Amino acid sequence: MGVELLGIEIYDGSFDDAVESALALVNREQVSQIVTINPEMFSEAECNSAFKQVLDAADLIVPDGVGVKIALGLKGKKVTRIPGIDLSRKILEKCADKDIPVALIGSKDEVVLNAVKNLKKDISNLNIVYFRNGYFTENNEIYENIKKSGAKLVLIALGSPKQEFFIYNAKKVLSSVLMIGVGGSFDVWSGNIKRAPKIYQMFGLEWLYRTVMQPERFKRIFPALPLFLLKVLFYRGDK
Ligand code: UDP
Repeated sequence: MGVELLGIEIYDGSFDDAVESALALVNREQVSQIVTINPEMFSEAECNSAFKQVLDAADLIVPDGVGVKIALGLKGKKVTRIPGIDLSRKILEKCADKDIPVALIGSKDEVVLNAVKNLKKDISNLNIVYFRNGYFTENNEIYENIKKSGAKLVLIALGSPKQEFFIYNAKKVLSSVLMIGVGGSFDVWSGNIKRAPKIYQMFGLEWLYRTVMQPERFKRIFPALPLFLLKVLFYRGDK
């Protein structure tokens, strides 16, 4: 199920159904990967075939960025935007209810530590069995620690495409775990970066708020979006 955009299959169901689909991935034998996609990631996939391969192998790709929703709208397809941060948070709550062990990997030391503290405070029974910062060079050591911890849900905040590659490569060595690339979510949960006020969220303008708060993001986001929309308009390969 899903809709195609620039040759990539995007989930087109409701937020609640996405949560259920994600939970169904938790106890599978293999490593499952959820990608929360934005326009910059489409650009990356276009010039990096290894990244396109990662996306093709993902189990669920949800439309995180408003740009993705607009692009699909241009093609006459209506989807619900599913912000990765909200999806991950909901999945954490469900995991707490079901006593499923979780791990958080990424961001700076104090960021991941504060994110863990705040999440534990907000979500009762949340069982965080492993967490660490996202500045490491040896992936295998981290995979080994995930395995030892027994985590069944692992959130990875290394930024894109690093986090997607980290998860993809985990498939060779780990089993029975759901991994989600969550970008800057730990920064928000730690209180380090404020999430856009509700009014921005309602109008899908979180990118605008984030750009004003972190102007250095501008050069990353701005050229990508109009180019992305143009590409979508002229692309003929989708079903
Ligand atoms: N990060 C990391 N290791 C790295 C590079 C980045 O842990 O080698 C973290 C960084 O500290 C930040 C997150 O990854 O917390 C990236 O957030 P960003 O907002 O750039 O992600 P986006 O959602 O825009 O991809």
